[in-house]
Amino acid sequence: MKCGLEIHVQLETDSKLFCTCHTNYKDAPTNTNICPVCLNQPGAKPYPPNKAALDGAIKIALMLGCEISPEVTYFQRKHYDYPDLSSGYQRTSIPIGDKGELNGVRIYDVHIEEDPGQYKPDLGIVDFNRSGIPLIEIVTEPDMKSPDEARKFLRELIRVLEYSGSARGEGTMRADVNISIEGGKRAEIKNINSIKGAYKALQFEMVRQKNLLKRGIEIKQETRAFLESQMITVPMRLKEQAEDYRYIPDPDLPPMLAEKDRIEAIREKMPEPSHIKTDRFVQEYGINKDNAKVLTSELELADAFEEVVKTIYPEFAALWMRDELKRVIYYNKMNFKESEITPAQIVDLLQLLQNNKITAKAGKRIMEKLPKNHEMPSMIAEKLGLTGVVNEDVVLDAVKKVVNKNPEAVSDYYEGKKNAMNFLIGQVMRITRGKADPGKTHKLLETELKK
Ligand SMILES: [Zn+2]
Repeated sequence: MKCGLEIHVQLETDSKLFCTCHTNYKDAPTNTNICPVCLNQPGAKPYPPNKAALDGAIKIALMLGCEISPEVTYFQRKHYDYPDLSSGYQRTSIPIGDKGELNGVRIYDVHIEEDPGQYKPDLGIVDFNRSGIPLIEIVTEPDMKSPDEARKFLRELIRVLEYSGSARGEGTMRADVNISIEGGKRAEIKNINSIKGAYKALQFEMVRQKNLLKRGIEIKQETRAFLESQMITVPMRLKEQAEDYRYIPDPDLPPMLAEKDRIEAIREKMPEPSHIKTDRFVQEYGINKDNAKVLTSELELADAFEEVVKTIYPEFAALWMRDELKRVIYYNKMNFKESEITPAQIVDLLQLLQNNKITAKAGKRIMEKLPKNHEMPSMIAEKLGLTGVVNEDVVLDAVKKVVNKNPEAVSDYYEGKKNAMNFLIGQVMRITRGKADPGKTHKLLETELKK
């Protein structure tokens, strides 16, 4: 199969694309976040395009490795007839950037357009609150060969968009998917609102088309809708051609110029894209790719890692931040930023561990206390009585005591019963109140039992 994607995500701006209405309409009652412009009332003239939207789109296009069109960009009217669009056309820009690439998938072009309203057939209304919000549309070449590849690409793309700080996340995503299999025609699937949805829609469509071909039935070139509730696709209409939209330049809107200086200023300030950061982490810090991927999953987490490894050995930091830190914030249903954990706290904790001041078990417990708690781990360790890995003499005393008091477990051990050792280690831990290093305890017990 071959699959290409068209992904729309809302751009992060204060006001809509062609008027001054706000973009945070979330709690606004139906049809209150509107004006004559974004309602497309006859005679209402749009304002010049929102500069922040254009800058955001340029930044994202650059992060996707696109070439930015040096020429004038203008808006076209794309005509179609649907209740969510009272003017009968959607304003959509010609490409702002093209010829990009993300993890081996070519980016055909990046442009902006206005969001239409929301048609709610079940309620019999159209809500225009979101009408006119700037969207970025990213169109890929049909370079993905399986539903899994498409899912991987979408995950990476959403990370790049989040890194950019100029787009909202998966929550505002709407994707159209083109899919064709050998010997068939291209079908377009609309109404996909999540990465999981894209994966399921592609899986369903791949099987449907294969079955048709097997039975010798011709696959129509058509547009299909994805029904999220049932995870299936159903026919919507025969696919329209570009000419059906009757594109014409919008005479109400002045063309936009992306001057060289402006592009360079954006390039200088843009964050390093996530996929490039992942590769750099592998190169620069010698950590493996899986760890690097997890650590770059969020810009703030990646920044924290780079801060931590100024003091801590990278592999050690990567291990703890990937396993324990991620576990804790995931358990608390937060992202790293929301957890308010600072690099200084992480460094403090890892130093306690590196210097054998606390056991790994104590380290895990302290990590659990860190979200939204601005105390330093060394303070927490002291408060909870976790400091001090007990020195070897004390452990050895405990080992001797345990061996003397538990003849049954000892004979089990000699008979080769595996859990006998675990029981004995547990007893030592109890006496030392969990402060003995488990690895060392194991060794001391073995030596003692060999006597
Ligand atoms: Zn408006």
